[in-house]
Parts: sequence; structure tokens; C-alpha cells
Amino acid sequence: MRPFTTIAPPPMARLIEALVKLPGIGPKTASRLAFYLLRAPEEEVMALAEALRNLKQQTRLCEICFHITDESPCAICRDERRDHGLICVVEEPLDVLAIERTGEYTGVYHVLHGVISPMDGVGPEDLRIRELVERVRREAPREVILATNPSLEGENTAVYIHRLLAPLGVRVTRLARGLPVGGDLDYADEITLVRALQGRQEM
Ligand SMILES: [Zn+2]
Repeated sequence: MRPFTTIAPPPMARLIEALVKLPGIGPKTASRLAFYLLRAPEEEVMALAEALRNLKQQTRLCEICFHITDESPCAICRDERRDHGLICVVEEPLDVLAIERTGEYTGVYHVLHGVISPMDGVGPEDLRIRELVERVRREAPREVILATNPSLEGENTAVYIHRLLAPLGVRVTRLARGLPVGGDLDYADEITLVRALQGRQEM
């Protein structure tokens, strides 16, 4: 069977090729979405195109915590009611959203944008680790919570960061166990996440 993209008209084939690159979208779903968009009202499709363009043009990383934001510093870093002496270190912006959803965390964040993973060629210098160390030195927070995922890479990254922060005299804690091992923080339910935060332990 010939792939659909070789028989579809080029504009449709290009869209399908772009959609297939998205996580969780196979060729079948991509074709279905492309046909849906073809039949959808023009305003709806243009609004989607506009939202896609704005996603790249109107977002940036917060200069303090590296979370995704439209304005830097981000709303969390600017919020004076939050506890700036408590920094929660996470792998991805999605993890910030997961913790924010619980409504229980009042501190601020630091987003690494990945984990150390020699297999994937990701070293400490590819992450926002240097910026974290500089930030801890500059802001002297009370506590840094290492909330990387409970995967091998997440654990190794936490150990690596702990080693760098220990000489700075800051209290470093790790989320309590109980999160699904190997799972992502943003898959954990809110109660599990709150328990993991509350039960955090000294490293
Ligand atoms: Zn920020």
C-alpha cells in the first residue's frame, strides 16, 4: 500500500507530514485531522494557525526560573505572595503545571528542560543547572526541592545537582517516594503529588 502522503494533493500531504511529527499522532490520525481541518470553517482553521504562530512568537523562557512565559520574569517569579526562599527544581514546564494544579505549593520553581542522559547525549551543560547554582548563590534560598522524575535519569540528575549545591549550605530535599517509578510527574494524580511534596526528605 502506498503511503497516503504520496497520493494526497501536496498541501494536504505537507500538513499530514507535519502532524505525524507530533507525539502520539500516527499517519491515520494525521490524515483524519487533515480532513477535519479541510472541512472545518475557515475562521476555525485560521484561528488554529494563528495560535500556532503565536505559540512560538509570543512565548519565551523566564530569565529567573526558565518556565515558559509571555513576559519575563514570569507571573510566578513576580508574585510577591509566593515563598521565594523555596525553589522546586523540575525537569519540564509541564511539571510546573502539574504541581500548580495541586494548589498546595507556595514556593517558586526552576525548570531544567530535561535530565542528564548520556544515552541521549544530554549532559549537565545542556540543562539549566549552571543557572540554578548561580541562582542559589545569588538568592540564598532556604530550601531547594529536587523534583525530577523518579526515573534512573531523574535520580542521577538529582544526585548530581545535590553534589553541586551541598557546598553552598542550602537545605536540599528530594520528593518522597510513592510517585510511580519511571512515570512522569505530570502523570501523577494530585493527591500523590501533594504527599510526595509534603513527605520530602533531606538528601
Ligand atoms: Zn519565572
